[in-house]
Amino acid sequence: MKKLLVDYSKCTGCGSCEMHCSSRSGEFNPLLSFINVVRREKEGAFIPLVCAHCEEPVCQAVCPYGAISRVDGIVRVEQQKCRGCRLCLQVCPFGALRQLPGQKTVQKCDLCGGDPQCARYCPSGSLQYVEEEVYNRSRRRELAARVWDEATSERST
Ligand code: SF4
Ligand code: SF4
Repeated sequence: MKKLLVDYSKCTGCGSCEMHCSSRSGEFNPLLSFINVVRREKEGAFIPLVCAHCEEPVCQAVCPYGAISRVDGIVRVEQQKCRGCRLCLQVCPFGALRQLPGQKTVQKCDLCGGDPQCARYCPSGSLQYVEEEVYNRSRRRELAARVWDEATSERST
């Protein structure tokens, strides 16, 4: 099973992911994208936010209509069941669900059916669609780097 890996240190804020995500609607418009890059220009930091397809999705837990499910690692909103109550929007830690202009229901990333366009067109390698083992290895490295940074900064104070 593959997963979308986000390497925040590599994002340049170019917005290619937002454009290509929105193209599924027939329009290149970042306002219609399910991936959103938070741009902190002063610090030179660009942070792509996208659904993590959580193992225990809080969006699914709060949906009173059973419209959200996770199958084969992909969290989806069933459009026929969604009533647009927006409870899921309020609890998602990544702000990953959207109620697009003129739509009654909520929508979200479904990994483009296994070929996520954001990763395909990310020029910096910040977004990669990789096998679970590669994903887990990368996450372990990130965690180890964070633990190391914290330990060394505590020692030097
Ligand atoms: S929409 Fe939010 S809570 Fe639901 S699976 Fe994606 S990241 Fe998790
Ligand atoms: S395409 Fe890649 S580098 Fe460009 S904004 Fe998106 S994540 Fe960042």
